Amino acid sequence: MTNSVAAFTGSPVPKLIEPLPVDAPEPGEVCCETLMLGICGTDRDILESTSPVCPLDSEYLVLGHECLARVVQVGSGVTNCAAGDLVVPAVRRPRQQEDSAGQIRRRVDMVPWGDYVERGIVAEHGFSLPTWIDRPEFLFPVPSEIKDVAVLAEPISVSEKAVREAEQIQDARLGDEWQRRAPRVLITGLGPIAFAAAIVCRARDWPVTIYGRDDPDSFRAGLVTKFDCDYVNEGTYSWSLPDVEQDGFDLILECTGNDVVMMQAAGTLASCGILVWEGSTRLPQPCQHNVAEIMRAGILRNHVYLGTVNNAPVDMAAALEHLVSQRPRYGSAIRQLVTRRISVDDSLWHYQHRERQGVKTVVVFD
Ligand code: BGC
Repeated sequence: MTNSVAAFTGSPVPKLIEPLPVDAPEPGEVCCETLMLGICGTDRDILESTSPVCPLDSEYLVLGHECLARVVQVGSGVTNCAAGDLVVPAVRRPRQQEDSAGQIRRRVDMVPWGDYVERGIVAEHGFSLPTWIDRPEFLFPVPSEIKDVAVLAEPISVSEKAVREAEQIQDARLGDEWQRRAPRVLITGLGPIAFAAAIVCRARDWPVTIYGRDDPDSFRAGLVTKFDCDYVNEGTYSWSLPDVEQDGFDLILECTGNDVVMMQAAGTLASCGILVWEGSTRLPQPCQHNVAEIMRAGILRNHVYLGTVNNAPVDMAAALEHLVSQRPRYGSAIRQLVTRRISVDDSLWHYQHRERQGVKTVVVFD
């Protein structure tokens, strides 16, 4: 019997537990089996916090939110999926029918804090389970040709939302400028969200520079070039550009969550540019920065700073579509983002640690 991985209140250490029993699906429900599960920084944050947001009446939270699954059985009345279909489940769901914004805001990625649950993250068990029950509206169909990498769809959808929102804001401010002249993109970081950002920007054929700490001859730096992106690194890159308008960037996707990197990157934002926060540290510490300088440049150059989280259904659909459309060009590079495949029983160390040149560790279910 395949085990589940769970986070317990009061402990930073994940544990293997016996999977929760699953009944046959009720009318309108779907039973799925997990095939692959990505381990993510959010899983590590939950454990490190020692206070997972557990479902009511549970002393633990089953982890796992980046999932590729197969439909095993559908309840009566379910017509839009069938046994055997490959699916990726949505992470976030509305907590109740009405949210406090009165359903005016787009559901569910835009609803206020507290009005949603997230499977494997907030108040609902995740997908580190051999089988589980869901509703069909939360399942996205996966073409079989991308079965090997579809577990990456969820993190890609998070970066897709970041870029789509930046595009929409810029369309409102600048008309079709980004369609006429591709924005120059800077991505900071070499983690899964940074590579996800590279995929969504390259799918739009935008020129991308990625900033990281690794040596240029390292595995992850090499992967950057496989996505036709330029790599610049801490050792050699100078943040003080001779001319920000000419040499700077129109879109910066900040994926390190490091405030020093963010402040330095902000100094390279050209006029009317937009900087998106995709990463953050779990326990932000007070420190000294010349924030007034960023504010001054932001005003004089019409900058936008944007935070985004989660995804809209359209982003998940786009992420799956990118995996299909970019396969001829970047299929091999995308496969290399999965730097380790392990069994559930061997996965515990990875829930607390990241390998030095690792990008995405994937737990493979039997
Ligand atoms: C997940 C998102 C989620 C966010 C905040 C990320 O790791 O990919 O779906 O909304 O964490 O909980």
